[in-house]
Amino acid sequence: MSDGSPKRLLHPETLAIRTQAARSAEREHSVPLFLTSSFTFDSAEQARALFADEVPGNIYSRYSNPNTDEFVRKMCVLEGAEDGVAFASGMAAVFATLAGLLRRGDHVLASRALFGSTHQLLMTLLPRWGVTATYVDPGAPPEAWAAAATDATRLVFVETPSNPGLDLVDLDWLGGFCRDRGLTFVVDNCFTTPILQQPIRHGAHLVVHSATKFLDGQGRVLGGVAVGAAELVKEIRWFARHTGPALAPFNAWVLSKSLETLAVRMERHGANALALASRLEGHPELEAVRYPFLPSHPQHALAARQMRGGGGIVVLVVKGGLPRARRFLDALRLLSHSPNLGDTRTIVTHPTSTTHSKLSEEERLALNIVPGLVRISVGLEHVEDVADDVEQALAASA
Ligand SMILES: *Cc1c(COP(=O)(O)O)cnc(C)c1O
Repeated sequence: MSDGSPKRLLHPETLAIRTQAARSAEREHSVPLFLTSSFTFDSAEQARALFADEVPGNIYSRYSNPNTDEFVRKMCVLEGAEDGVAFASGMAAVFATLAGLLRRGDHVLASRALFGSTHQLLMTLLPRWGVTATYVDPGAPPEAWAAAATDATRLVFVETPSNPGLDLVDLDWLGGFCRDRGLTFVVDNCFTTPILQQPIRHGAHLVVHSATKFLDGQGRVLGGVAVGAAELVKEIRWFARHTGPALAPFNAWVLSKSLETLAVRMERHGANALALASRLEGHPELEAVRYPFLPSHPQHALAARQMRGGGGIVVLVVKGGLPRARRFLDALRLLSHSPNLGDTRTIVTHPTSTTHSKLSEEERLALNIVPGLVRISVGLEHVEDVADDVEQALAASA
């Protein structure tokens, strides 16, 4: 405003739409694609200063690119973060965050309910380099975190709600625990997105995402991002610059555009998921329906406190175990059977036989992944069509 009145802070939803790479001489309205691997120097002095980090600017797209910067700036605004780095996938973001911050001898405390590849990093890969990890059950009481911490513990890593159990971790409590002990608190915020939950407000130092899921929201590209405290992001950026998991400019352009509709999409994903869960709860062919914003969810009060909506994932447990679950999947007519989530199209996944098949039966049961459990990533179709397909498949598989 030029009238001298104090500048009103814009809402994050507005900034996710209005944050944009600088307009070029062509005066384009929509940001162009910067498909370039490197950038030119105006002078020998500028080249020296850019490499010496004395002036900001692009050098090479493994370090930075206008499209990836725009995507990261929007994610920082949405998560309330100081700085961030974009990655080629969610797993690249998780790995660079852990590998960039941890040293030989360090210990990680993590919630047991983790994405499968994150579990492999913590239990198999990082131990090769002398970094160990201990799990705490997501529903465990606070004392369990204190009991599992050691003098070597440096970092706490959680997902909430968890995949696919929809177990929650109390972010305020864990944020305070990490602050008191000087631990770095990292949250994988993939399931909720910053529209529904902002872990940094609860004490997280870093938030990581698989941008492949709701951030893209249309099942097109892989991507990842880590945002948070500037001094930690600096370490992660150094690691990424020298190891090369950079997000491609094209994918960054797609993801940045997707963020313009994120708030609207998350609202509808949540409304559809709640409507589906409410309609299916008590269905005679189901043993259970799980959704954080159903009053029957064991952590409903916590969900209402730290989430602005229940998100797009609903979990069903069909009667009749594995054979019934398989018949149910094969009887679906409209919904997609796929391992992804966070798409406009509703996707059904059977964790026991796919995403969590590498776990032992005992490990699965510790996460409440029973053979009849089916995960539904509720899309943006009319929810009556989604519910009708689930109900007809339940009837057909009885
Ligand atoms: C999918 C997913 C990841 C991994 O992301 P990619 O983009 O597939 O590498 C990490 N965490 C969670 C919770 C996920 O759902």
